[in-house]
Amino acid sequence: MGPLRWLPLFGQLLLLWPPAARPAGPIRAFVVPHSHMDVGWVYTVQESMRAYAANVYTTVVAELIRGERRRFIAVEQEFFRLWWDGVASEQQKQQVCQLLDEGRLEFVLGGQVMHDEAVTHLDDQILQLTEGHGFLYETFGIRPRFSWHVDPFGASATTPTLFALAGFNAHLISRIDYNLKDAMQEAQGLQFVWHGSPSLSEQQEIFTHVMDQYSYCTPSHIPFSNRSGFYWNGVAVFPEPPPDGVYPNMSEPVTVANIHLYAEALVANVKQRVAWFRTPHVLWPWGCDKQFFNASVQFDNMDPLLEYINNHSAQFGISVQYATLNDYFQALHASNMTWGIHDHHDFLPYSSEPRQAWTGFYTSRSTLKGLARQASALLYAGESMFTRYMWPDPHGTLDPTWALQQLQQLRWAVSEVQHHDAITGTESPKVESMYMEHLRMGMLGVRKLMASIALDRPPVSGTDTSPVGYSASVYNPLAWKITTIITLTVAFPSVSVTDELGHPVSAQIQNSTKDPSAYDLLILTTIPGLSYRHYQVRRTLEDQASTRLVAPRANTLKFSLKLRNQTSQEGKLLVPVTNDCYTLLFDQDTNMLHSIRDRQSNHTVHMTQEFLEYQANGDVKQGPISDNYLFAPNDTAEPSWEAVGMEMVVGALATDIRQYFYRNITDQDYIYSINTRLAHVHPSLAGELLCQRIEQQYRVGPLDLNREAILRTSSDLNTQQVLYSDNNGYQMQRRPYKAFKSNPIPRNYYPMVQSAFIEDDKSRLVLLAERAHGVSSQENGQVEVMLHRRLWNNLAWDLKYNLTLNDTSVVHSVLWLLLGPKSTTTALHPRSGVALQHRPVVLLKELAGEETPVHRPHDPWPVTLPPNLHLQILSIPGWKYSRNHTQHLKNLQRGHPGMSQANLHRVLLRLHHLYEAGEDPVLSRPATVDLKVALGGLGSVVAVEERSLTGTWDVQTLKRWHWRTKDGHLKGYPTSPRRSPGDSIVTVYPKEIRTFFIHFQQ
Ligand SMILES: [Zn+2]
Repeated sequence: MGPLRWLPLFGQLLLLWPPAARPAGPIRAFVVPHSHMDVGWVYTVQESMRAYAANVYTTVVAELIRGERRRFIAVEQEFFRLWWDGVASEQQKQQVCQLLDEGRLEFVLGGQVMHDEAVTHLDDQILQLTEGHGFLYETFGIRPRFSWHVDPFGASATTPTLFALAGFNAHLISRIDYNLKDAMQEAQGLQFVWHGSPSLSEQQEIFTHVMDQYSYCTPSHIPFSNRSGFYWNGVAVFPEPPPDGVYPNMSEPVTVANIHLYAEALVANVKQRVAWFRTPHVLWPWGCDKQFFNASVQFDNMDPLLEYINNHSAQFGISVQYATLNDYFQALHASNMTWGIHDHHDFLPYSSEPRQAWTGFYTSRSTLKGLARQASALLYAGESMFTRYMWPDPHGTLDPTWALQQLQQLRWAVSEVQHHDAITGTESPKVESMYMEHLRMGMLGVRKLMASIALDRPPVSGTDTSPVGYSASVYNPLAWKITTIITLTVAFPSVSVTDELGHPVSAQIQNSTKDPSAYDLLILTTIPGLSYRHYQVRRTLEDQASTRLVAPRANTLKFSLKLRNQTSQEGKLLVPVTNDCYTLLFDQDTNMLHSIRDRQSNHTVHMTQEFLEYQANGDVKQGPISDNYLFAPNDTAEPSWEAVGMEMVVGALATDIRQYFYRNITDQDYIYSINTRLAHVHPSLAGELLCQRIEQQYRVGPLDLNREAILRTSSDLNTQQVLYSDNNGYQMQRRPYKAFKSNPIPRNYYPMVQSAFIEDDKSRLVLLAERAHGVSSQENGQVEVMLHRRLWNNLAWDLKYNLTLNDTSVVHSVLWLLLGPKSTTTALHPRSGVALQHRPVVLLKELAGEETPVHRPHDPWPVTLPPNLHLQILSIPGWKYSRNHTQHLKNLQRGHPGMSQANLHRVLLRLHHLYEAGEDPVLSRPATVDLKVALGGLGSVVAVEERSLTGTWDVQTLKRWHWRTKDGHLKGYPTSPRRSPGDSIVTVYPKEIRTFFIHFQQ
């Protein structure tokens, strides 16, 4: 989104602030033409292409060719690729190549989208960057060197690390807390070297520029113009451009009569801004949302204005030039200044004004947030499954080109939804539908692909056979052996379950929580890394229930409904539910959780959980409103239920505790539920993670209007109100409660992408999430997770763009809880987070009566990595890369980029060390792996090339700019020494992410 809501304020500032003392040296203004093109927000991608986006590239290319001083930076690759593939003529393509050669058109960032930084997962950020960079490399041999993260709502400390790994020379952000930005401006502290990870060395630092208070849009509302200042092309019109080329809000053209006034306004603004920086270079972004759709009128007015200023340079005291980001950062770098260092702290949450805390979007549209992560997990599994299918040799009739198309469709859908108005939930309903549709289509294709790989037997013959059961193929997408429970929904109450060899399997059947006429079948499975298990599930008659193959039925205990304010009795009746790791106690007088005992340390933590709601104001005349972006509750949260029912489903494999919360005692339907599962599995090596987690599923909604629903967990942990929550599933941030005078509740909200925890000196309670939520600790010992929001308000801006959040859906989300001493939970936390994100994929096929089970042996070649090393991806990329960059450029110049399709023999491998330096005595050690051995099941490794994060650079040839720092670089911990090329033994240091191309013997 754009900052149009605050333009009047910026306008006032432009007029009121006097120019301050400026640094030594001639002032140079770098006018950087750009268009901020949201990949969906109010309008869909196709609507945006039609109304303005295609015209941005068509007219900008023509106008840059017309004037050799002119420059432009291009950002979102989804729009550019749509233009390149579907609109551009051969001549326009030639012109683009020429402009890139001349450095006048510059791709910055280069992702499919400008991803959100608060609620996106690291893996998805890398994916969306890779898809954009792959296209640019394949098409032009271009590798972007600068970021342009001007609109994400707050800045994460993961981003500087990722962008350094991608080969960027500098990083640029804008939206940080207004108080902080003011202070940084005053102190000339908007530029620094960011040391994003405490575990990594200076190799992963990056120079960072924070945009000043004007952010990425050109100042408008200049005194003499009744329009919008420097936006001569006006405002984009939907659904299509006006036929006469006349747009609303076109500024007064520059004429002899007004050119001096225009020049004075521009110069005054540059002089005001130069005071906030340590060098006399001013980055002057020229553009805003949806600009440059008519580039000729833009440049035809700016050309004479710049010329006029330069002709009167002595009088004005500044010089101006069109610039790309490279031009600006080159000049800044050449100044050879010494910069301060910013440590690993992020810039979250983001408040734009005193009562405007942008912490609502951490939860907005929870269903979309959930689907985005499910799609990402499915893609992850599909990638390695397809790679394993191709290597060592394809054993079926699958067409690899079709397979790659299915993967690419989902790669692009998952990339698209990382946009900062997509997964954030800040889009209009029709744009949300577009993202959901793209995700669902992509998932369908990849599910088809996975089914044809995993269920490669011929389909059942005959027509009139009703299914008597299922064959279930279960794929473990992680490169570790895992033990877990998979749940299938079946239509019959009595089934037998056998494995590949016809042996019985530990299983349990019970009434389904989702469908009263169906049953949940729980199966305990142990699966090696990147491998399958195959099960046969057959309907049996009830009277066969004695045979050893039949899954035993769990017993259900029902407890009577209890009122919320029911007081607990003296000598209360506590019902224990226990496994080898925990004992959970529930209070029969209240139907609430009472406490959890960690059996290893024998320490009990009193803990209860309930649902509460914040009430929001919907009338702008009454005060601040909550919306898609903002969280502005009227008061503290109140319990939103009157009565709670409970049942326990007790089985040999697992026990489920189901709590149902009713808004009113007389209601037939509950509004909230928690299903808590404890697995009865011994914590032997493979079962460790399963035993040590308490799995919870929630059902929330539909909510009443203007309610924001939270799950609050209150404990007797003495946490000092300190919360920890993650940046993008990559690293944790410490979040002490801040006693703000204004707006303290929402300003103490943080994003939780994958995990959060609270602790005291004895115990730590970890929450692991499968989708992003807002999280906060409002009192000592408490942690609350926002699960759902339903909001409507009468703010004209929200109504105009249909940006209210009247979300009537029912949200189903999952948290896993870990409790125990710090040492135990530190070891479990990252691995369990990954295990939640990447649960096994179950592919079902109906069985007909006649079919006999096919007995298959175990997969003989699992892929297994050390426990601290995560297989971040194993895939066959869809883009053409080159081992020889010079040759690649020569091929492009000759107009034939070599192969006509992606190279199926190149396998992308990315490894991620999950632990911070020093946090665990064993798991924080460097992890060494011989790829020849680890990947032996795929074939004989003949070459290992180490690449930059997005695959475009050979790391041996990647040289990033060095920026001098004040105190010397924070050294961090040692990172990997350079490998000799071809060496298959790789050592990965704490928190490192390393990317390789693997070549196998053909
Ligand atoms: Zn935006």
